[in-house]
Amino acid sequence: MIISSQIQDSLELRFSGLACRMNARGEKIISLGLGEPDFPTPKEIIEAANNAMLSGMTRYSNPMGLPDLREAICNKLLHDNKIAVLLQNVIVTTGAKMALSLALGALIEPRDEVINILPCYPSYIPQILIAEPQAVIRNIDMKRDDFSLDLALLEKILNPKVKAVILNYPHNPTGKMLTEDEWSALTDLLLRHNCWIISDEIYEKLSFTEIAHFSPASVLALAPRTITINGFSKAFSMTGWRIGYMVAPDSIMKKICLLQQHMNTNVAPFIQAAAKTALSLPKEYLNFFKTKLASNAKLLEECVSFAPSCFRLYPCSGGLFAFMDISQTGLTSDEFSSGLLERYSVAVTPGINFGPAWDDHVRVSLCADTDVFATGMQRIKDFAGSMK
Ligand code: PLP
Repeated sequence: MIISSQIQDSLELRFSGLACRMNARGEKIISLGLGEPDFPTPKEIIEAANNAMLSGMTRYSNPMGLPDLREAICNKLLHDNKIAVLLQNVIVTTGAKMALSLALGALIEPRDEVINILPCYPSYIPQILIAEPQAVIRNIDMKRDDFSLDLALLEKILNPKVKAVILNYPHNPTGKMLTEDEWSALTDLLLRHNCWIISDEIYEKLSFTEIAHFSPASVLALAPRTITINGFSKAFSMTGWRIGYMVAPDSIMKKICLLQQHMNTNVAPFIQAAAKTALSLPKEYLNFFKTKLASNAKLLEECVSFAPSCFRLYPCSGGLFAFMDISQTGLTSDEFSSGLLERYSVAVTPGINFGPAWDDHVRVSLCADTDVFATGMQRIKDFAGSMK
């Protein structure tokens, strides 16, 4: 297999790996790098996995996923997302990441175009190229002032060769969520064109403002060409369990299932049992975490307003991150992140990791405890002070 030179190690992992090694050496690093909830997996979920293992759910099973988990997912989709689907349209995968890979593998053919919006989750481009090395990736950048979509530009590049557009709201790395009006303009545009929509909704449950989550597959006319991707990593702090799912119309599900059978066989049944328990937790269980994300987002805004000659920030609304504009410091995102880590022991992720035009931003994870985050903000202010 020829691996495209565009497929590189993730800078996110490089910086957080460095932070871990520094921590192991006894240096007290504040890690605002990784996108990982900082609370343990709820004990109900762990107990469900233990019980399932003890009861013998340790064997090969249905490649689509256990029917009772898929039924719970169908109910969740109906109630939370207004998406009405049958069991046959839901497949359980090893994380949202594998769902994305399977979807792209099933959809994309040589020379198909895929629209990718930058900045983006760093695995999208490698995943497109792994799925189809001859795919043509049409990257477009969000607007720099408020991370909104340039719909005129999107309309311009949507042509019959475009097989799919990837959407991700709440968004990694900006924390952007689209308002009702923005969704309405976007769905109007997508209704006028005939491409697939891959909607990555992994941060769905982590909206911490009044902006409500929206799933494009809830628009009846878009549902037959929308693939919805979600998972358990972020909402249930299950990043290491590797479980996610995908909802896809019959027209593509057969191919997706073939790929799943020959690549993964199935997701471990005891992990699926645990995921079913996760879906049964009361909705309020995440409130404490969302409150923390909102408080940290506010602390970051205060930090930015303290150093307006260095930083700018468009407020984030959901997900685990904010994307801070550091252009006025004159540093590249790598220089900024390295300086902050080496001199002030705070790890963030360079914006270049999320798209070539975003080297004047850094991603700040909001996941830390509020007092730790506040110390991180003080150190960022000190770093800004040292640049005057
Ligand atoms: N999609 C986005 C936008 C992400 O940020 C991530 C993980 O960081 C994933 C998908 C992958 O999630 P999972 O852990 O379920 O594979």
